[in-house]
Amino acid sequence: MDKLEIYVHIPFCAKKCDYCDFLSMRGDSVTKREYVSALINEIKLSKDRMEGYLVDTIFIGGGTPSILEGKYIGEIMDAIRQNCVVDENAEITIECNPGTLDKYKLKYYKDLGINRISIGLQSANDDELMAIGRIHNFDKFLESYKLAREAGFSNINVDIMSALPGQSIESYRETLKKVTDLNPEHISAYSLIVEEETPLYDRVEAAENAGYSILPDEDTEREMYYETGKFLKDSGYMRYEISNYSKVGYECRHNIGYWKRKDYLGFGLGAASLYKNTRYSNIAGLSQYISVMSGGNLEENENFWGETIYQDDIWDIQEDPLTVIQGKIQKLSNKDMMEEFMFLGLRMMEGISVDEFEEKFGRKFETVYGNVADKLISQGLLKKNDNRIMLTDRGIDVSNYAMSEFLL
Ligand code: SF4
Repeated sequence: MDKLEIYVHIPFCAKKCDYCDFLSMRGDSVTKREYVSALINEIKLSKDRMEGYLVDTIFIGGGTPSILEGKYIGEIMDAIRQNCVVDENAEITIECNPGTLDKYKLKYYKDLGINRISIGLQSANDDELMAIGRIHNFDKFLESYKLAREAGFSNINVDIMSALPGQSIESYRETLKKVTDLNPEHISAYSLIVEEETPLYDRVEAAENAGYSILPDEDTEREMYYETGKFLKDSGYMRYEISNYSKVGYECRHNIGYWKRKDYLGFGLGAASLYKNTRYSNIAGLSQYISVMSGGNLEENENFWGETIYQDDIWDIQEDPLTVIQGKIQKLSNKDMMEEFMFLGLRMMEGISVDEFEEKFGRKFETVYGNVADKLISQGLLKKNDNRIMLTDRGIDVSNYAMSEFLL
């Protein structure tokens, strides 16, 4: 049986963080109820697509999935299990934020077969947490982390961030220390990106206009980046992807599936899918998603994707609402797939297999990418090990440049 991954998007959060440009929002209890019903409907309608597949990873992400009442997560898991075959050893992750967990919820997750918890900490420094508008402090995180351990979770990820407003190399090191002292199995470490149209962007810009910066300077940011790799390595974590570190055997299988271009179906608002070499995304409008997936009436000209829907088509669409919520459909060409194979595969420290490339695409690697690979090897950004090709440490530092070279 071919393997399939499932991603479920829960777009609700207690409050929008100041740096957040993800598809997340506050939601009242009625909206949450309606959303979960719509989501379950989407899962049921996707049964045919999941036929013949073995689902070996499920990732319930957000937003903050743990903000939902536990029973909703139970209903979602039931819908998945009733409509596809889930591997008994599947990795099943739920993203949680401190302040939204209690021991009953965690025990319930465990009973549902969820076996991996991902907790968003970002920083162990309360001032830094406040500066980015998080709802919790470090103590609240500690409480959630301990509850997760007490509930029996033996695979926990902690998200941290560097380059935060007011962060120094010392305070960042302190975060690394406090987190590694807890001994989580997995740590994701990202550098803050200040996105436009966020409150943080406005603050950064206002400070710059006034002649100062609230962010660490470039050198400090770089130092934090190097410190991440060094500190985590010294603490027994293996870097297996540009921003992801784990104890041996605890790499996130779901994310590895993305980088290896495994088929995945995304359910929920804005969720993306890769299915039989076609990429597509769900609509990002909450009320539209709920309305269509709840069998609401469609009006002529209702137009989520810039396409006109005519009255005659509406009956077909109501038969299969998935055709309305899914758009940005991109049927991947061989060229697209080769490019993706390279720039997603090179995110992983193990790199890509030349044999696998040739087997998948029926082309000699040398013919397609020989020149690019030689150039990057001569620049010290890429290295070859047996039949594998991977980024060097220097290549990881300039990974965007190195990967862009593989665009055909
Ligand atoms: S918890 Fe995550 S998804 Fe929610 S607002 Fe904050 S950064 Fe965004």
